[in-house]
Amino acid sequence: MPITTNTSNLPIRERLGVRPIINASGTMTALGASIMVPEAIKAMTEIATEFVEMDDLQRIASQTIARLTGAEAGFVASSAAGGIILSVAAAMTGSALLAIERLPLDTKGLKTEVVMQYGHNAAYGNSIDQAIRMAGGTPVLAGSVSSCQPYQVEESITANTAAGIYTVAHSTISYGMLSLPEFVAICHARDVPVIVDAAAEYDLRRFLAEGADVAIYSGHKFLGGPTSGVVAGRKDLIRAGYLQNRGIGRGMKVGKESIVGLIAALEAWEVRDHAGIKAHETAVIDMWLKALAGHKGIETRVSPDSTDNPVDRLEVRVRPESGFTAYGLVSTLAAGDRPVMVRGHQAEQGRFWLDPCNLHPGEAETVAQRLTEILTSPRPAGAMATPAKSTAGLLKWPD
Ligand SMILES: *Cc1c(COP(=O)(O)O)cnc(C)c1O
Repeated sequence: MPITTNTSNLPIRERLGVRPIINASGTMTALGASIMVPEAIKAMTEIATEFVEMDDLQRIASQTIARLTGAEAGFVASSAAGGIILSVAAAMTGSALLAIERLPLDTKGLKTEVVMQYGHNAAYGNSIDQAIRMAGGTPVLAGSVSSCQPYQVEESITANTAAGIYTVAHSTISYGMLSLPEFVAICHARDVPVIVDAAAEYDLRRFLAEGADVAIYSGHKFLGGPTSGVVAGRKDLIRAGYLQNRGIGRGMKVGKESIVGLIAALEAWEVRDHAGIKAHETAVIDMWLKALAGHKGIETRVSPDSTDNPVDRLEVRVRPESGFTAYGLVSTLAAGDRPVMVRGHQAEQGRFWLDPCNLHPGEAETVAQRLTEILTSPRPAGAMATPAKSTAGLLKWPD
């Protein structure tokens, strides 16, 4: 049945024929990122049929972003990934409008190099070095995968350096890298601005307070806003980033509904009952601990977030005595008519995580039931499978 005909009372996932997944993996953009807060949904619905002057809307967003982050200014981007590209472009062009029109290939007369610690070249679908190149910049990776010394950043900075990028993410290397204050000190001593990718972070103030010139957040992760990005920072760089809408930013356009939805999500974030939500998540983890207790070869541990976000997850170690590999158990959970998607990116190391932050009422119980059912039933085909890093399915899309 076409989604556009309003003849069906079925929930939208059934109408579309997509699987009714339960998201126990956190804020994963590949699964739709987060449950949008009601305030954002309401604002988006209200603005949908109205006309507005977009510069004015972004000016209001700038004030809201400034209030929440402590920045001088801000704008709403299409996503954090888009915000990174625009911020790199901003550091290259400043407010020179003709330079903005010439990006990305004609960078004559502009500083183009962007320095980043090697272990910070994270991928979130694509990787940061490509984001730099999309703006017309040249990535300069300092140090090695697992170690970066001050001199390696210092001597990577030249007269042609436009910016430094610093990534805060579970997916970077968490040891051997310079801290943000160390990285900032080196860059600022050489008049190089620092852009922080903090897409999946809760703390909207910390990185700017630690000296970042621009900090970038996803609107659709913990904030529970629409698909969008928050770009916050020094006014001249924020202006230069916004002006990229006359250039490469046009293909990363953000709509009125996303701007007002994000403003509403930010305002809701200011008054969110963070402690109440945390207490609920702790209770969910306790329930999962009980469901997983006493199963041979299954070990659990409450694990704090690796970048200090105030969210705990349940780490599940899967030993062969359980009759599963971690990948086999992750895949079994993701199959069937009530699929549970978990954080399985380290399944090859024999573990996965259950994340309580994006569940609807009743789903935590379903996750516990599914775990109990699976672990007390005969082992299914594929229980001992090992991770397949295959793009075969992707290359057949859309079939
Ligand atoms: C999710 C993420 C991104 C991309 O964010 P989008 O808003 O989805 O574009 C970039 N960097 C990091 C570290 C992320 O976690």
